[in-house]
Amino acid sequence: KGERLRLPPWLKTEIPIGKNFNRLKNTLRELNLHTVCEEARCPNIGECWGGGEYATATATIMLMGDTCTRGCRFCSVKTARRPPPLDPDEPYNTAKAIAAWGLDYVVLTSVDRDDIADGGAEHFAKTVSNLKARNSQILVECLTPDFRGDLAAVEKIALSGLDVYAHNVETVRELQRYVRDPRANFDQSLSVLRHAKKVKPSVLTKTSIMLGLGETDQQIKDTLTELREAGVDCLTLGQYMQPTKRHLKVEEYVTPDKFAHWEKVGNEMGFVYTASGPLVRSSYKAGEKNSAQPFV
Ligand code: SF4
Ligand code: SF4
Repeated sequence: KGERLRLPPWLKTEIPIGKNFNRLKNTLRELNLHTVCEEARCPNIGECWGGGEYATATATIMLMGDTCTRGCRFCSVKTARRPPPLDPDEPYNTAKAIAAWGLDYVVLTSVDRDDIADGGAEHFAKTVSNLKARNSQILVECLTPDFRGDLAAVEKIALSGLDVYAHNVETVRELQRYVRDPRANFDQSLSVLRHAKKVKPSVLTKTSIMLGLGETDQQIKDTLTELREAGVDCLTLGQYMQPTKRHLKVEEYVTPDKFAHWEKVGNEMGFVYTASGPLVRSSYKAGEKNSAQPFV
């Protein structure tokens, strides 16, 4: 410990560019959409936006601005106690732009807005309903905050017409305080996922865990067990990458074999799907995975 670990070869990737990539890239600028894919310089952008022969084009769109009211120790999004107010036209304009962009699968996500009474739940829900009204074919996933455990907010989104309700627990139970903002915790996040499934059982619920923060195998196993008990359908596991020197250090670069092991474990435990790999992000190939499922 103390020294920074060297980047292993499996994380030095070239970005493959698929056939849709340039088309999506060229039209994005005119539409005034903010994608996490570009802003986080996600290494999967070529695959997600490009799609392979059978793949679907996926992107992750940020709602409610670029400033978060929380400060998680793994995350490079900027923080303020009072970010600028929401743009009331955003749900309409974003839905219109996404529909025009030509995606098959979209992930809508946001910063946490603890300064707003409902945390922005209504804003999320309106974006989904506007989008589905324009394009009933597009699959919509919302990757939401925990709304401080406000289940009415969760319900509003779960009933908005979306296909997948995602909320990330981020890490194992034991490392929550070390990794996430103190306003977040494991039980609160589990209650969000449990409630979304309860009010709308046909919606798939999904969560994501970063590995390489010092968690043990037993802690991972126990976390997966608790997630299954809460009815979580889909699971992704990826390598934590330190965004800047001020953020949490990587404790371990988990090998591709170990990630494959967890994918197998997840499948055996009954998750509808488990995506696990060093470069897997919560939205990685979400369209491909989810469109294979019977709910569509
Ligand atoms: Fe965008 Fe998510 Fe794909 Fe990365 S993994 S390119 S953030 S959709
Ligand atoms: Fe980043 Fe989300 Fe934490 Fe805000 S709540 S700091 S956006 S991970």
